[in-house]
Amino acid sequence: MPGPQTHTFDCPECHRSIEVDDAMRATLLDVGCVVCGAPVAECDLSDAPTA
Ligand SMILES: [Zn+2]
Repeated sequence: MPGPQTHTFDCPECHRSIEVDDAMRATLLDVGCVVCGAPVAECDLSDAPTA
């Protein structure tokens, strides 16, 4: 059965890669990168590969 959905955020500005959950994903889209403050688009977030 599926666990909590996680996503991988790759910032196009600071190139930081962060694994985030649904809530954090929504926060990133709302406020931007937590590291550099760059705007975040849907395309900067990808579903983390699950085993
Ligand atoms: Zn950034």
